[in-house]
Amino acid sequence: MKSRPTVNPPNRFHDQVVAYDDGEAPPASQIAIIDDHTRSILAHNDSPDLGFRWSVNPYRGCQHACAYCYARPTHEYLDLGAGTDFDTKIVVKRNAAALLREAFDKPSWQGELVMFSGVTDCYQPVERELELTRRCLEVCLEYRNPVSVISKSALVERDIDLFLALTEQARFGISVSLAFSDNASARAIEPWAPSPDRRFKLIETLAAAGVPVGVMCAPWSACSSAPPRPVPARPAGSCSACPAPSSRSSRTASAARCRSPPTRSSTASARPAAATSSTTRGSACAVAAKACTPR
Ligand code: SF4
Repeated sequence: MKSRPTVNPPNRFHDQVVAYDDGEAPPASQIAIIDDHTRSILAHNDSPDLGFRWSVNPYRGCQHACAYCYARPTHEYLDLGAGTDFDTKIVVKRNAAALLREAFDKPSWQGELVMFSGVTDCYQPVERELELTRRCLEVCLEYRNPVSVISKSALVERDIDLFLALTEQARFGISVSLAFSDNASARAIEPWAPSPDRRFKLIETLAAAGVPVGVMCAPWSACSSAPPRPVPARPAGSCSACPAPSSRSSRTASAARCRSPPTRSSTASARPAAATSSTTRGSACAVAAKACTPR
């Protein structure tokens, strides 16, 4: 990652701000890995807008550095900044897999779907070395626990073997987050995420491998700045947003769902890419509609 000056908005929990005298400049922002000693890994939500109750975020902060990311202010809880600190001070939960196993072993665990991530990208660059997400998915496979993943990262291709095993033995779906279809817009707003071209290629690769893959298209206002591009045609019902249809009539219904207008929650505000795909089914499928057209 190219070095940039450290710039953070004033932290709402601080009563002081850092200022620089004339001629002085803020230091360069450097990637730093910070250990998180959390004692639980499953996050719970009771939002009626979300299609899941449980999520796992092995990382806090995100190297993809999207300007619109709703997770930025969460870094302020850690006494860090919501600007370049969010992109460069990455907090890692090294014991995530062990904590997940502990959670699944509890008699109260009912085997509900677990979303990776929901807040920050679980396949951001640091995952290549640390493999925290992969270790957690291995635990999910061992317990045959349903999983959903959302990511912008091409690194997900590394774990196609796990995705296929989870698809076969539990339940699995992945949404590729795609807010822009043109590379220039994406570079300006999502500076360190893979280009849209690379993400289209990723969708193609996952689909060709047989992984249930959909598109998470948000924030909508940015997404609508360029015309949607077609993705390679796939059999109706093969994207994670549409359950596999069993008859022609259900195929038609599935396609109709795909062409439905974006839900209110997906258009009301600039939602981050890490939100749930279930809230943006309409918008996701607006991009992928060609893939869902019944034969
Ligand atoms: S929107 Fe997603 S990919 Fe972008 S910075 Fe936030 S968590 Fe990372």
